[in-house]
Amino acid sequence: MKHQNITEACSSRLRIHLGAIRANYQAIAARVAPARSGAVVKANAYGLGVVRVAPALYREGCRHFFVAQLNEAVTLARAIGADATIFILNGIDPGSEADCAERGFIPVLNSHSQITRWRELARTKGKPLPAALQIDSGMSRLGLPPADAIALAQDPDLPREIDLTLLMTHLACSDEPEHPANRAQLDAFDAIRAHFPTVPASIANSGGTFLPGDFHCDIARPGVALYGVDLAPDVAGLRPVVELEARVVQIRDINAGIGVGYGLTYRAPAPRRLATIAIGYADGWPRSLSGVGAAWHRSVRLPIVGRVSMDSMTVDISALPTDALAEGNFVELLGPAQSLADVARDAGTIAYEILTQLGPRHARIIVDDDGVLEFTAPGERI
Ligand SMILES: *Cc1c(COP(=O)(O)O)cnc(C)c1O
Repeated sequence: MKHQNITEACSSRLRIHLGAIRANYQAIAARVAPARSGAVVKANAYGLGVVRVAPALYREGCRHFFVAQLNEAVTLARAIGADATIFILNGIDPGSEADCAERGFIPVLNSHSQITRWRELARTKGKPLPAALQIDSGMSRLGLPPADAIALAQDPDLPREIDLTLLMTHLACSDEPEHPANRAQLDAFDAIRAHFPTVPASIANSGGTFLPGDFHCDIARPGVALYGVDLAPDVAGLRPVVELEARVVQIRDINAGIGVGYGLTYRAPAPRRLATIAIGYADGWPRSLSGVGAAWHRSVRLPIVGRVSMDSMTVDISALPTDALAEGNFVELLGPAQSLADVARDAGTIAYEILTQLGPRHARIIVDDDGVLEFTAPGERI
């Protein structure tokens, strides 16, 4: 069987559960109702493959999709129905205005230069062009300062040039529900909204969907929660989406005092049984897990010893019965025993970074609740 061969002929395999993404979307949509939930699918749906993820969300009723760049919008548009709206969060790069307008994408206008270029195009076309407007309510990243947004609202030429379809802002601290900046940003945003009374509004990323209802506005913009990162484990109950396994390349026994890996940063304090695993930092498995992180097998933690290399790392399997693991077997890296959040904590980063770095070197198995949908061999476009 061809599919069987593909998964056999791989060093590591990433399983992506589309059914879990669909369930997570429905859970978030129910949470924010009567607001509607969109979906953020930038960066190839956080590395999971937008051409598979976006149609699944579309079938669940999602009609508002957010990407970061024009090229991501082009890929996305081919994968979903024409009645969906595609927003480009970073706005428009100079020179790509006409392309963006012709394709019907909605740029999020963040700056004066973006607004000016969009208005110029509208004047040459002799009709208002749809756009979203981002307000900087306190994060100092993207968007117009409040005073400038109010001035824009009062510009009598604006309606002839820009058809505002969404007013949005982004929270700096939504992952800390008690942080006072959340309420301060909401208040600042509400003050601006009053000047655009007919325009739908959007604040909430994943973290924002777990804040009180007034943060949900008209359209939510969850990303990472769709992909199984449980931001508020007590209340959320989101389903994990990814599982990652890698193969044991070699097993060896070493004596006390023997060093392991680049720099020999680990020295065995006593005789040890080691397994070299076919995953490294070129696979998106962070080097910062050196000496800190772990692989798992049958619920036994296998600590990483020494440095993570480009294509491999070494784990201590002394805690396993001798016959429990053989060369060619797989160990668990992400799954029931170890979540994205666990790996992120060990690596000193956030789950977003772990997720988006899981690259094309892994064989990919896309499964829905009723079975396997697709295999992608290592190295193939995802
Ligand atoms: C990435 C992004 C989101 C999604 O954020 P998550 O924390 O992944 O839910 C929403 N809005 C904007 C503006 C973003 O850049």
